[in-house]
Amino acid sequence: MTHTEQQSNSSEIRFGVNADYLIINGLVVTMDAEYRIIENGAIAINDGEIVELGYTSDLIEVYKARHLIDAKGKLVIPGLINTHTHSPMTIFRGYADDLQLREWLFDHIFPVEAQFVNSENVRTGTRLAIAEMLLGGTTTFNDMYFYADEMAKVVDQVGMRAILTESLIDFSAPNNPTPEHAMRTSEALIAKWAGHPLITIGVSAHAPYTTSAKVIKGGKELADKNGVPFNIHVAETKGEVEFTQKEFGLSPVEYLESLGVLGSNVIAAHCVHLSPTDIDIFAKRNVGVAHNPQCNMKLASGVAPVPAFLQAGVKVGIGTDGVASNNNLDLFDEIRSAAFIHKLHNDDPTVLDARSAFEMATIGSARVLGMEHLIGSIEAGKRADIVIVDLDQPHAHPVYNIYSLIVYSMRGSDVETVLVDGRLMVYKRKLVSLDLGRLYQKVDSLARRIAESSKILAYSNNRIRKI
Ligand SMILES: [Zn+2]
Repeated sequence: MTHTEQQSNSSEIRFGVNADYLIINGLVVTMDAEYRIIENGAIAINDGEIVELGYTSDLIEVYKARHLIDAKGKLVIPGLINTHTHSPMTIFRGYADDLQLREWLFDHIFPVEAQFVNSENVRTGTRLAIAEMLLGGTTTFNDMYFYADEMAKVVDQVGMRAILTESLIDFSAPNNPTPEHAMRTSEALIAKWAGHPLITIGVSAHAPYTTSAKVIKGGKELADKNGVPFNIHVAETKGEVEFTQKEFGLSPVEYLESLGVLGSNVIAAHCVHLSPTDIDIFAKRNVGVAHNPQCNMKLASGVAPVPAFLQAGVKVGIGTDGVASNNNLDLFDEIRSAAFIHKLHNDDPTVLDARSAFEMATIGSARVLGMEHLIGSIEAGKRADIVIVDLDQPHAHPVYNIYSLIVYSMRGSDVETVLVDGRLMVYKRKLVSLDLGRLYQKVDSLARRIAESSKILAYSNNRIRKI
């Protein structure tokens, strides 16, 4: 996509409608309401917006683009959307694996977070997460962690779309000694970042078993008052269901319903152990579910009843959860796992077909985040969050069914070009606004410090360091 390349095509351009980008010759998978797929498709982008979508032969006659991207032999899809993650946790990738959730969280993750989660390390972890997400075709993420302001600064600097939140939890968090403090921090950040084109500050309560009713209700009120999303982990484990049954005589969903906090701006992560009554409540309240199959498999939490959610009309999107329980942020990998796990779990290979799985990571996830008017599909009037995937490789041939190709064969590393809000973020598999070499040095040196404090082995720069 050099100026010269554009010049070579400029003889075709006869009328001067300006566009920042014109993507041509692509196999465009729109994920619009008709699930249109356009061969030899073209997309005109101006000021971050998709201004027109059509055939290359038509659009090339009309648009005089500053940059021309030739997607011949490539797939063009909507940017993928991660509805649940804790992005700074990339610094704990592989720190503690193969443990029970409670032991993993309380004996390993919470202590290492108490020691190493600070503003600088959050910036480093967020930068690494963004690099991984963008290179794998993710253009939007919804995050629940600490130091949301630091995360927002990195997101703003690099250029991704994100919902960022401070976790309200009944423990002393690294940057918030009390949940009330976290609430005030959230409120200040909502005001600080209001009106940013790519960043929304939302509100998060950690979970019914770690956060009091008062704090959960206060967090939801704050989210409602500001018209922003509200995140909460719900029914991730059987232990959580036993906890709310014992404490309140209710399931986690019934408990949240009794608090009056369920509504269309709620993003409920996991939702593994839900009864038919719980699912009805979610459908009635229009709650969105962030489904995290790989994390649920890795921690043996169980299998969320996703087919039942979809049948009941509950919004379902896909998420990776934090890298410490996944251990990557590859949404291609995640949707493949989602499709497979529900087939196996239901003893039925017809469950969650490829298109439905892909929908969860695109327009389905956009609905969960309340952003379906902006992103999730390639349509005129939406923001230009677009991913171009290379098909010039053995596992991409032959092609009988596009959705089968995307979900069952492709991987994040096949992503070649990424635009977020009409800005080029990845081009020819290289990040435009991040220096990976420097970032790896920083991450590896931090990992050595973390490993040293825990007396575990740290592998860095292909050398093994024994501590
Ligand atoms: Zn989570």
